[in-house]
Amino acid sequence: MQLHGLHYPRIGLKMAPFTRLASRAHATKPNPNSYQETQAFVRRKRVKKEAVKEHHVISRNGHVSSGIPDIEDFSYQKPNVLSANGNLELLSPVHAVAARVASPIKHGASAGPPDNWEKVLEGIRVMRSSECAPVDTMGCEKAGSSLPPKEKRFAVLVSALLSSQTKDQVTHGAIQRLLQNGLLEPHTIDKADEETIKTLIYPVGFYTRKAINLKKIAKICIVKYGGDIPSTLEELLKLPGIGPKMAHLAMNVAWNNVQGICVDTHVHRICNRLGWVSKAGTNQKTSSPEETRVALEKWLPKEEWDPINPLLVGFGQTICTPLRPHCENCKVNNLCPSAFKETSSPSSSKSRKPLSHYN
Ligand code: SF4
Repeated sequence: MQLHGLHYPRIGLKMAPFTRLASRAHATKPNPNSYQETQAFVRRKRVKKEAVKEHHVISRNGHVSSGIPDIEDFSYQKPNVLSANGNLELLSPVHAVAARVASPIKHGASAGPPDNWEKVLEGIRVMRSSECAPVDTMGCEKAGSSLPPKEKRFAVLVSALLSSQTKDQVTHGAIQRLLQNGLLEPHTIDKADEETIKTLIYPVGFYTRKAINLKKIAKICIVKYGGDIPSTLEELLKLPGIGPKMAHLAMNVAWNNVQGICVDTHVHRICNRLGWVSKAGTNQKTSSPEETRVALEKWLPKEEWDPINPLLVGFGQTICTPLRPHCENCKVNNLCPSAFKETSSPSSSKSRKPLSHYN
């Protein structure tokens, strides 16, 4: 069998693609007896790496759980998980208390809009209008744009799931391969075997866990929602692997029902650099996108909640980059409290390249 976009004429579908990691593994294992052994070694390495990362997420949160955590940029405690038969799988009492859609921080009474925020926003809009960023053509918002509404909603949800810890270009490629192979639809995903899905979505981050979650989500969508995706934030958050960032994105893009701001790592970082958000009652930076979302929603007018995500994501991919922001090219550097504090080299602008959505 041959998958569109991927050719494995002799090894068949059961084999993972030969990767850079596989090459490295081959180099460190001098005499592998067979290709299969090399592949098994690579898989063990990958599983170990993912297990370590899972442990870190749980430890940072201070909870002990044997379940699979969400693959978000920052830890997030899920509400009770929905199973395919529509039943809730109850978490421990500790998790149940922590599991809220809203941020755990308390709202301060004081927070008003920051000075000059409208000028800054306008300056960013001007910068964004003159330069295309990866999010403009390959963001989750573009997934399944040629499909009918129901299929498009599912495509947006799948794209949101795949996009965490993954560059927009890589997510876009995975969505295209799923689409070309008829696997961007819940019924076909439900019938497909996990290895096929893994092969098609590789190399998105955490592709193994995402393939597992994708099949679970497809089953839940079929059994509980007639093949559509949930239409409320609360129900979306109960899907395996779906955290607040993805749920808000699905609500905003798939249902055109803005319930909150989709805050990813770019929005989180830039809002803190601009001094737009802080921990309640302090001048300290917020420590997670969820904190940022709650702080931002306190003062940002609701009509900006949807457009702020692609605006700042693209700005973060091109100018206000995670490392060495290009403050010298930034039209709002006279209004930004973080201007030139993280910039290292004036020549960096010459080699500027767009960065991924979720770097
Ligand atoms: S001045 Fe620098 S840190 Fe501030 S928004 Fe512009 S690029 Fe980002």
